[in-house]
Amino acid sequence: MLFGGDYYSEIMNKWFNVSEKLIKWHDGRTIRLCTLNDISEKINYERVIEKQVFYDNLTGLPNRLSLDKSIQGIIESDENSTVMLIDLDNFKNINDSYGHNNGDRLLKEIGKFFEDFAQKNKKLSIFRFGSDEFVVLLRDQDQAEIDEICKIIHDKFNTEWQIANSTCYCTCSMGVAKFPKLDDTVNTVLKRIDLAISYAKKQGKNCTINYNETIGRILSRQIDLERLMHRDITNGFAHFTAYYQPIFSSSEKKLVGCEALMRWNPPEFGQVSPAEFIPMAERLGYINLLGENIIRIAGRQCKKWADAGLDLRMNINLSVGQIIEPDFLDKIDTLFDETGAPPEKICFEVTESLAIHDMEKMKELLKHITDKGVKIALDDFGTGYSSLNCIKEMPLNTIKIDKSFIDDIAKNPDTAVFVKMIVNLSHDLHIAVCAEGVEEQVQFDILRDLETDVIQGYYFGRPMPSDKFEEKFLSEKLQSVK
Ligand code: C2E
Ligand code: CA
Ligand code: CA
Repeated sequence: MLFGGDYYSEIMNKWFNVSEKLIKWHDGRTIRLCTLNDISEKINYERVIEKQVFYDNLTGLPNRLSLDKSIQGIIESDENSTVMLIDLDNFKNINDSYGHNNGDRLLKEIGKFFEDFAQKNKKLSIFRFGSDEFVVLLRDQDQAEIDEICKIIHDKFNTEWQIANSTCYCTCSMGVAKFPKLDDTVNTVLKRIDLAISYAKKQGKNCTINYNETIGRILSRQIDLERLMHRDITNGFAHFTAYYQPIFSSSEKKLVGCEALMRWNPPEFGQVSPAEFIPMAERLGYINLLGENIIRIAGRQCKKWADAGLDLRMNINLSVGQIIEPDFLDKIDTLFDETGAPPEKICFEVTESLAIHDMEKMKELLKHITDKGVKIALDDFGTGYSSLNCIKEMPLNTIKIDKSFIDDIAKNPDTAVFVKMIVNLSHDLHIAVCAEGVEEQVQFDILRDLETDVIQGYYFGRPMPSDKFEEKFLSEKLQSVK
């Protein structure tokens, strides 16, 4: 039999390609001709390339591409396995406090810990998944082993790390998913751990979440809603409308205006709460389009009521994303032209999250629109961290005290003191105060006594479509102008 192939010589520390063939020698005998080719350079070069492609430069661990390959191999062999994503909590703070070099040192330390860990347990393989993310693949395990491994990892991350001659703490969150399941692909497996980890982060970090069907259902709802949002927005904002919630003066209990609140009603799901679809629109980059659409709808409504001689203010929510758009002011001008809404009847509600952007720039932008007569209200006041600064800096007309304070006001005398202080401060600065989420008579009475100017909440009415709003609050006034 002839032999051939690549062989390594330990004595020479070289690789050879060996091939053999039979040839006729000059004396007529058939002999074997064996050729040895030194291929060490080629093999070493291939290894360098492989290392670059499949291994992470910093930690030396297999990288994301290796992980994809391993997961694919496991799916094909249908071997019972578990994938664990380990995401360091607040790693950005480490980089910010100790510098990127030291951040890299910590990542190396962590990589070393995982490498040692995998050497002790042959069922484990470790990968560096992304900047501050590592993955553990476990084959042929039972739940007790999975739990034990999670515990060892958390225990390690709950102790201190040493970098730059100082002690630092860096906990981790973990998302765990078993695979393969029917029709799994690398992407579906990674999606499961991704989702599990975002749950872990929402739970306050430093914990492990095992993927389960409930999380899966939420994920598929999210995917369906994202698809429908895209469909409805590109289809002329189909199934998006505005509801209006009344705002009353506290002294005379007189209707002074309303807040336009966006509603989305895709037939496949029924009404979806803004608390769910607004953050989704922000994530998908649709919030500006939706924001413009609500200004258009509420602006037309405002014009209609103004034309009927009604003195009502229309509050419209603005997200920060809309304000920081480069053509924000032009867009607002166009929308006022398009709808014919009288600017002095419009009040834009903004939140304190504005303050994380360049305050001077924000002030200037808001000043431009207040110069046209538009009013600005500071929404959800008291939930942010820069409240007083915001009041001082912004050209505000109203501040809206968040519902969480109102919920408490009849039970906690300290809350009433806080509200009174805000009312006094605002009035000194010629800013009006609105209380949000007022549901009960007792809350209304306290707020009126504290001289809160206007009141919004279920006590006066829930958000409702424009025809219901007219029927409930404006029928007499609309009759009298007819
Ligand atoms: P928000 O601007 O603070 O709006 C007030 C929310 O409180 C509304 O919820 C309203 O229905 C609710 N609410 C009012 N009074 C009461 C009450 O007495 N009791 C209770 N339990 N709730 C009350 P909604 O309509 O679900 O909106 C939630 C949030 O979604 C809004 O909070 C706002 O942040 C956002 N949002 C809604 N429409 C728009 C919009 O057109 N643009 C933007 N950017 N955000 C919007
Ligand atoms: Ca609002
Ligand atoms: Ca609010």
